[in-house]
This record gives sequence, C-alpha cells and structure tokens, in this order.
Amino acid sequence: MTWAQSRDRMVEQHVIRRGINDRSVTMAMRTVPRELFVDPGFEEFAYEDAPLAIGQGQTISQPYIVALMIEKADLDAGDNVLEIGTGSGYAAALVSRIARHVYTVERHEPLANQAKRRFEKLGYRNIDVRIGDGSKGWIKAAPFDAIIVSAGVPEVPSSLKEQLDLGGRLVIPVGEGEPQRLKRITRTGVSQFEEEDLGGVMFVPLIGEDAWTARHPMYT
Ligand code: SAM
Repeated sequence: MTWAQSRDRMVEQHVIRRGINDRSVTMAMRTVPRELFVDPGFEEFAYEDAPLAIGQGQTISQPYIVALMIEKADLDAGDNVLEIGTGSGYAAALVSRIARHVYTVERHEPLANQAKRRFEKLGYRNIDVRIGDGSKGWIKAAPFDAIIVSAGVPEVPSSLKEQLDLGGRLVIPVGEGEPQRLKRITRTGVSQFEEEDLGGVMFVPLIGEDAWTARHPMYT
C-alpha cells in the first residue's frame, strides 16, 4: 500500500466513519504526509488512529482528535489561526492547507525547530513558528479567527479569549485532571462569549504562566 492509500484509508476508517464530514479537513488529511511528522522508525504506525511519542515527553495527537478539533474550529480559507503546542507540526500543517495563515507556538525548542524544518521541506510557507510559552497567545499576530490549543489547561486563559476576533472560535481541552473536556468558546460580542462542551479528551498539560505552572506545581 502506498502512503497516499494509507492516508485515504485513515481518513475513511478513523475520520469520516466517526462523523467528521468537513471536506476541507478530510482533504487536508489526504494531503499532508503524516509519515514525515513521526520519529524515524515509527513511519509504519503513522496512519493508525493513535498518539505517538515525538521526544521531550510529548506526543503527536491521535488523527481523529486532530480532525475533530480542526472541524470544530470551523475554518475558512481566509482565516488567521493560532495553534498552541506545535509538537510535531502535524496539526499546524493541516490547518495551513485550509486557512490563510497559521501561527504556532511550542515551548520545547528542539520540537519547534524540527517542525520548522518539516514545513520548509514540504514548502508550507504560511506557517510561523515561535519558541516559548503559548498560554498567553501571540499578541502581535492577533486577532485570530480561530485558536486551537493542543494541550490541556485547568481553566480557559482569558488572554486567549481576548485574542479572538468577533465570531472567532477557541477550541481547547479544559479540566483539573484527565480526561479533560474539549470546549469551544465563540466570541459573540466585545465581552460576550458562548461556551460549548464537545466531549471528553486526553491531552498532555499546557505548561505556562496562564496554564499549569503557578497553581499546580505537580506539572512544573
Ligand atoms: N499539535 C501537536 C502535533 O500535531 O504534533 C501535538 C501537540 S502535543 C499533544 C502538546 C504540545 O504542547 C507539546 O509539544 C508540548 O511541548 C506543547 N506545550 C505544552 N505547554 C506549552 C506552552 N505553554 N506553550 C507552547 N507549547 C506548549
């Protein structure tokens, strides 16, 4: 089976069959080579619906959950998007195939640099990567039409809500333990937000000033 056939099978079996119908998401997943976003030696597992270790104690998320989060972010071709928790770069790469521009932040320098190299190799030029704490967002690139947070927070950081444009969507795993609840927060007015619960998820913690560090020393 070729990589393209493996991608199509993953999309059919693990994404569409589980209810993801947004064609922009499924097209992006048929296009982006996930085998190039896993560690050497793990390529044969790239199209299983599972998270995989990527070094620094971190993981590339399960394809179905990535698809769900991107679908719920409700992206348009003109959107300016922030992704927090670059990891392997796979989710940012998918978003870059759908939206106008992606800003992504990763606290582990080796992961951020590796993701940058992958984007360069693939010619994905509409992605900016920053090394640092993404829990406060990326003020200079705001406002965002969508913010996707790929790690769990104890409560929704207000700085992220403030960086949403009017009508903007924030998709984020929230909770004091595991599993967290996946939430979508939509900015409906200058200081009005609507919150929806999208179900249970399991994410590594977001470590940062507006996330797990100060209040929860177990995650420092
Ligand atoms: N989106 C990634 C992908 O497609 O491979 C998977 C993300 S992984 C589940 C979560 C990532 O969030 C890890 O790489 C971790 O280092 C990063 N992270 C945790 N706290 C962070 C913070 N405050 N700012 C930026 N990145 C953070």
